[in-house]
Amino acid sequence: MRTGSMRVAEISLPAIRSNVRRIREVSGGHLIAVMKANGYGHGAAICARAALEAGATMIAVADIEEALALRAAGIEGPVLCWLHGLRADWRSAVEAGIEIGVSHLAQLDGVAEAAAGLGLTAAVQLKLDTGLSRNGAGVEEWPDLFARAAELQEAGSVRVRGIFSHLANAGDDRDRAQAARFDEAVALLRTAGIEPELIHLAASAATFTSPHLHYNTVRVGMSVFGYSPFADRTSADLGLTPAMTLRSEVVGLRSVPEGAGVSYGFNHVAQGDTTLALVPMGYADGLPRALNGAGATVAIAGRHCPIVGRIGMDQCIVDLGTLGRRVEVGDPVILFGDPATGVPPVEVWSELMRTINYEIVVGIGPRVLRVPVDEADEEASEDEAGVEAADHAADDPSVPVRASETSRSIDTPDDMHALGIALGRRLAAGDLVILTGPLGAGKTTFARGLGEGLGVRGPVTSPTFVLARTHPSLVGGAPLVHLDAYRLRDAAELDDLDLDFDGAVVVAEWGAGLIDTRESWIEIVIERPTGGATGSDDGDGGEDDDAADDADEAPVEPRTLTITGYGRRWADGVL
Ligand SMILES: *Cc1c(COP(=O)(O)O)cnc(C)c1O
Repeated sequence: MRTGSMRVAEISLPAIRSNVRRIREVSGGHLIAVMKANGYGHGAAICARAALEAGATMIAVADIEEALALRAAGIEGPVLCWLHGLRADWRSAVEAGIEIGVSHLAQLDGVAEAAAGLGLTAAVQLKLDTGLSRNGAGVEEWPDLFARAAELQEAGSVRVRGIFSHLANAGDDRDRAQAARFDEAVALLRTAGIEPELIHLAASAATFTSPHLHYNTVRVGMSVFGYSPFADRTSADLGLTPAMTLRSEVVGLRSVPEGAGVSYGFNHVAQGDTTLALVPMGYADGLPRALNGAGATVAIAGRHCPIVGRIGMDQCIVDLGTLGRRVEVGDPVILFGDPATGVPPVEVWSELMRTINYEIVVGIGPRVLRVPVDEADEEASEDEAGVEAADHAADDPSVPVRASETSRSIDTPDDMHALGIALGRRLAAGDLVILTGPLGAGKTTFARGLGEGLGVRGPVTSPTFVLARTHPSLVGGAPLVHLDAYRLRDAAELDDLDLDFDGAVVVAEWGAGLIDTRESWIEIVIERPTGGATGSDDGDGGEDDDAADDADEAPVEPRTLTITGYGRRWADGVL
């Protein structure tokens, strides 16, 4: 491989194919796979080919340059593009058999003229603005545009293959209002004598939420690459597999004493004697510089280790902690990938950056080599990374059945704390609580209450930087073991910690998937409304900043807690 291969985005072609099949199963109709912006940073040509193989009807990109690049890369299937400037090269597009999305009369005429000049028929799709106030023909332009399209189709210079519009995703009612306008347009087009073959409105979000918006085609990007367009639903929730694994390698190791300054500005200082790994990926490669100190982790030797200090243009530093002795220069580093393989998902970054996963994946830089990975080589590369697929408890008949489930709405940090106390009072040695929720959800507030309810020595803080912290009982009862399972690879590694599961109450943050040997456990999922203000990092691999953690990680807005009891112990409910 070329030198740049110390920065690699592996693209799983089986994931792309399975996502396409999954979306087709959900939508039931044609699928247009959107490959704009270099396939959302994944490599447009390799992904387009995989999507077509899996049954996509056509590929779409934003502009003619992108479409021509796909042709140059050997993509021969149907390609649509819809965003054009005044100097759009209609002739090259028509010559290359690219379908043009036209947003107004001048574009339609330009395409028809180019086609006539070439003695060809250009396929066009009519792009309408149904309320997004962006690209597309406005409602007042529809009658003229459709009449002209019918005329040109009659004359043979164009064929109207489809009609489409794009949603604002501003809520169900507004989507329905846009759909009503779209219906009018389709009816009007038919009145003009044109029967479009492809009718499409839904992108990824509406494809998964709104079957009534599917028409006969969906036009999807993010979900083809395996990512959820929703802040509150994961890829796995949607039956999708993230296609990109962003990989690098350790190019340097350095042991530093407590107090050593790390990277520009010394805005991180080693909290103890530790080993730092140098990873040759920086903001030029798409690691947001502002991730600095935010609590992002990378997977090294199957562990999740925090990125510390300022991220440079070309490199970043990872604190290996006690793992340092086991890591060598050259060891693989995974920055994000499919969480089902035990690595952090890209959404950790987008959530920390208060942005969407789209922006992160599309921002992976040009120095990062895109390497398609297909069935046969996939297993090998996973072995190499030392990352094993998590067991899917749901598939295992020996896993205890869900015995009880309740949902609570929590309005304040005090309520979160109080609920923790109530649960703590019910727990005894041998009980396991799995606590899951995004950064700032209030997991630590809850755990602190739980410790109080149990009567253990505090303070219960975020378990960051220690995998497990034991709090002895002050009342002669069971100790509390507070575990950061986010940094564990698998159940075997949990065994290595040699925790006394039977003699303690174990609270594991992010422990789902590590529990397949248990007879009973409690799972608590804390969700917060999306898009609102958030508390600070509550310790999912963040810096060991207990002061900040104690100060304001607690909820500043309502949370929903779903409490599920598994196994006979919790058959009558948990709380
Ligand atoms: C980008 C884009 C899409 C795909 O959106 P996803 O949310 O990634 O599925 C569909 N249609 C248009 C017009 C777009 O610009």
